[in-house]
Amino acid sequence: MISNNVMETDEVSTVQTTASDADQLHESRNQLEPFVVAPRNEQSGRGLIASRDIRKGELILTEKAYVAILDKRHYKTHCYHCFKKLDVRPMACRQCSQISYCSKQCADESWTSYHDKECCFLDVFMIREDFQYPPKMAMRILLKNGIGNCLSQLPHLDDTTIPRVGYPAMHSLVTHEKDDKNDYNGASALLMAFLLETRSDDEIISTGAQSFLNNLIIKHLQQTNVNGITITDKLIDPQAPKDDPLLTEDDIGCGIYLTARLLNHSCSPNVAISCFDGVTLIMHALRDIKVSEELYHCYGTHHKWQLKSKRQKLLSESYYFKCSCSACEANLQPLTKALKCNKCDGGVVADGSLVCMNCKSIDHLDVQKIITETETGLKMLKLGNGYVEKAESDKSKYLLAEQAYKEALVIYSTVLFAVNKEITTVVKKLRHCAIKTSKYDEAVEYSKQLLQTIVFEYDERDYRVFNALMQLINCQKSLYLSVKAKTPVDKNKLNLLKTELLLNLDKIDELRNLILRRGSQECSSFAQRLSVIRKLL
Ligand SMILES: [Zn+2]
Ligand SMILES: [Zn+2]
Ligand SMILES: [Zn+2]
Ligand SMILES: [Zn+2]
Repeated sequence: MISNNVMETDEVSTVQTTASDADQLHESRNQLEPFVVAPRNEQSGRGLIASRDIRKGELILTEKAYVAILDKRHYKTHCYHCFKKLDVRPMACRQCSQISYCSKQCADESWTSYHDKECCFLDVFMIREDFQYPPKMAMRILLKNGIGNCLSQLPHLDDTTIPRVGYPAMHSLVTHEKDDKNDYNGASALLMAFLLETRSDDEIISTGAQSFLNNLIIKHLQQTNVNGITITDKLIDPQAPKDDPLLTEDDIGCGIYLTARLLNHSCSPNVAISCFDGVTLIMHALRDIKVSEELYHCYGTHHKWQLKSKRQKLLSESYYFKCSCSACEANLQPLTKALKCNKCDGGVVADGSLVCMNCKSIDHLDVQKIITETETGLKMLKLGNGYVEKAESDKSKYLLAEQAYKEALVIYSTVLFAVNKEITTVVKKLRHCAIKTSKYDEAVEYSKQLLQTIVFEYDERDYRVFNALMQLINCQKSLYLSVKAKTPVDKNKLNLLKTELLLNLDKIDELRNLILRRGSQECSSFAQRLSVIRKLL
């Protein structure tokens, strides 16, 4: 297991890190991490290569963000500095009322390293809704290291070497300046004005240095635009409302991860971020990896849920390369978007050709039927949604919604492949109605079906599997309590439910230890909450 202490030095290492310090750090990491950094190559840049055989499920990396920016929508729900969920008594900023912290330590660290300067200007950097991170990140990078320090480092920085930590590593991340058609002039002018305004007295920036600084700002804007990794807070609270877990998951911010960012992309990756612990990213191996094999991470276009044509388009537009990963070469397509083959009920994905993935027959689809049936299905789905909207004030509407959803499910099932996303959507709605009308038996069945789909679609260590299992446990718990409350108690049924529930609690306990950092606060508070459920049994 990788020691977190080593990774956390990222956060404190600054431009003052001497070459020998960095070397030593690099050495000590090499003994712990199961990979090495491959030298830069023209086509794919750098990459991470397995330095020994890695087993499926092994922890590959825990890395704290070099900089992390909290999404504005989460200022009141998460700590501005470490991204932990806020409890009932958060600490306010000493000056503004916009943001909050989980502790005095976070408040102090944030204030002394960057927030004292940006506090009055928080909204100024919100240039465009879809461009909220790069300006703030570029600013944070410069504030955290000190402008003077960054500028004085410039002549000594050599982007052809492979620094792993601190400002030199940040500076060496790719920019894609040749392909990037964004206009950064407005943002850079704003940042320049801000930095000149807020610089401390001893930071004298000559007119000559200003043009260097401007170039540096643009470089960091380009880097943060292409290298940012979305930070999510996706683990559901077992005591949260029993609604759809996917509704409670959310992107809470964006971070720069100097090591994780070196991974190249594949639409069929062999490593994945299983979840985040605050701003710390946690990455596991998805399968066995042999020594000297390259590690690949997915940039958000997995073959299990994205059409090949769409993957190629997104990757070339956002990351400026033509994907030739094993999944693209083998023409792999997402069954979650598949239609049902007329001949064998197998999956047919409409993306250029119409070949059945099972029986390989071509054009065995009744296109007209598919169009009419999906339209009718969608109508029923919308009808159901309309009833659900009114159901808050009139619970009986849930029964009408349920009827509509059940019809949608029957219609969809005639033309769509079993794990198609549209079918999953309807099943989720049905579960929601079942929970709202206290039909926990049905809710449990729908939850089992959803869990199966999620396991099919994602890795078993994925947080989504964790959430789906938690959802099932919540429904099973409600069912157990409702059976227990009925007189006379059906002892056999109760025992059966108890056994199943205990089995799932064991499973999620194991998953919790794999996904969350063992010993972390989140991990132990989850354990506590699970034990509350156990005590009910
Ligand atoms: Zn905090
Ligand atoms: Zn403030
Ligand atoms: Zn690909
Ligand atoms: Zn077929």
